[in-house]
Amino acid sequence: MNKFQEKSILKIMGKLFKKENDLSKLDSTLKYSEDSPVRYELMIEGSKYGKRTGFGLKIIPTMVSIFRNEFKTVNTLKNNPKNPKKEITAAELQQLKDFAEKKGAGLIGFAKLSEQLVFENKAVLHPNAIVLGFEMQKDKIDTAPSLNCQHEVMRTYDELGIISNKISRFLRKKGFSAHAGHPLMGAALYPPMAQRAGLAWIGYSGIMISPEYGPRFRLTAVYTSIENLPFSEDNEHAWVREYCDQCRRCIKECPGRAIYDEAIEHPSGRITHIENTKCMPHFVNEFGCSICIKVCPFNNVPYEILKSNFMK
Ligand code: SF4
Ligand code: SF4
Repeated sequence: MNKFQEKSILKIMGKLFKKENDLSKLDSTLKYSEDSPVRYELMIEGSKYGKRTGFGLKIIPTMVSIFRNEFKTVNTLKNNPKNPKKEITAAELQQLKDFAEKKGAGLIGFAKLSEQLVFENKAVLHPNAIVLGFEMQKDKIDTAPSLNCQHEVMRTYDELGIISNKISRFLRKKGFSAHAGHPLMGAALYPPMAQRAGLAWIGYSGIMISPEYGPRFRLTAVYTSIENLPFSEDNEHAWVREYCDQCRRCIKECPGRAIYDEAIEHPSGRITHIENTKCMPHFVNEFGCSICIKVCPFNNVPYEILKSNFMK
């Protein structure tokens, strides 16, 4: 990426940040709190580290689509109904699940958000989150670090941003209010949200691990006025943490030594796994790196097999 491209991106992002931050000034939104996390601005922070491989001309159409959909998440909020419905019927819920699946979401779960998951200076319209996961193809991830892998990660971000906006439009048509999140950026922290939704568990590398895709998926969410979603009350994947305790492969293979041996637990209960300043030089200069995803046993052996061996 040359200086001109970088400057243009920063200018576009400044406009987006303003729109996002303005949401936190509205009375009715769920806003950040004192112990909310600060969002890591990948696109801005990344520009401080080296030559940025993998962000060449080929990626531009995907980036344009990503930006378009990021803006859509805030620009379409004006389309929400004035008096949105708050209860979904069983038939409507099934239609929602079917629609999400048809659009490509491989994982769908439901979580109640607390303000500690909302990023500093941000807000979401509603605390009721529909959490969505989208698979990254194994053959591409297995080439990490590579241009192919980098494109797959960006494709996934783009697809999820599109799905999130489509689901929001679907909900608005049915009389609900919806606020689409975007997997690149977004107003709240997705991994703990997915954990709360019972979809997966956070591995040592900070990446979510699910039975369906192991560590090979990305997340987003749609925040909605629907108050009677089937919010998860438990999570059967907590054993993954004990597996990680014994595995630690991502820690050993990480070229930046960026994964903490012991994750940091913040007073709010939020857990930090990665030292971003150590990850970024590799992430930026080595096609988004992704070695921690590639080497994870859950990328190579089915979840149920690892589980049954581990439980013996
Ligand atoms: S992306 Fe690469 S550098 Fe960053 S944590 Fe994973 S393995 Fe380490
Ligand atoms: S590589 Fe091992 S320690 Fe790292 S996330 Fe995967 S299972 Fe956990």
